[in-house]
Amino acid sequence: MKDPRLDNLARWAQENFGQEHTGHDLGHIRRVVSNTEKILRKETLTEAQEQIVLAAAWLHEALDDKFFPDTAAARASLTELLKASGYSADKQEAIEAIVQDVSFHKRQKKAYPLLTRIVQDADLLEAIGAIGIGRAFYFGGAHHEPLASTPLPQDPWRSQNPKTVYQHFFDKLFRIEELLSTAVGREIGEKRTRFMKEFLTEFKKEWEDGSFDPLG
Ligand code: ADP
Repeated sequence: MKDPRLDNLARWAQENFGQEHTGHDLGHIRRVVSNTEKILRKETLTEAQEQIVLAAAWLHEALDDKFFPDTAAARASLTELLKASGYSADKQEAIEAIVQDVSFHKRQKKAYPLLTRIVQDADLLEAIGAIGIGRAFYFGGAHHEPLASTPLPQDPWRSQNPKTVYQHFFDKLFRIEELLSTAVGREIGEKRTRFMKEFLTEFKKEWEDGSFDPLG
């Protein structure tokens, strides 16, 4: 049965991310929730734990300082929202801990508990596959990043190569598969990574076909 408290969290997501255009719009949040549901179907959790994980999925951007630079105020608003939505103090703390870890996992190297890893995987899956490709080019356009360089890097796995959308696949997107830690996350991650590799092989071919010096 659907947890009615989630409606309030969905409203929060709509209000805060309904007009977002950097790749973290409401569609992104909905897909992270849907990925979380898929992962949950194969994990053995209690109903209370599932409620915590789903709430954290809806709120997973709530402590990201890209969107909420005043971290103390963001934390206070999150606590307020969870209390007003009817979560007990225990659940509120557990949800906040997951949201915190999902926001800062790139800066912290530690072993995360399963409930956190479920939302992390759901979020990581959003960066790969067809939507991940779309988001990378969307981000590249918004940040004036070239599609690719001419010639393409000889060794694309070197991180010192020029920053391009093509390079982002090697710097980040092809490395996500090994970060996924849940069974469903790994299964979906493998398919999406295969698809991105096919896409990039075709991209490379088309790019190189057009890479000649017009004045040479
Ligand atoms: P998050 O913290 O949610 O991963 P980011 O802002 O790092 O958010 O990335 C948002 C989206 O933009 C992701 O899909 C990511 O792959 C893409 N992205 C991030 N940096 C780059 C880049 N330099 N070039 C192309 N795409 C990028």
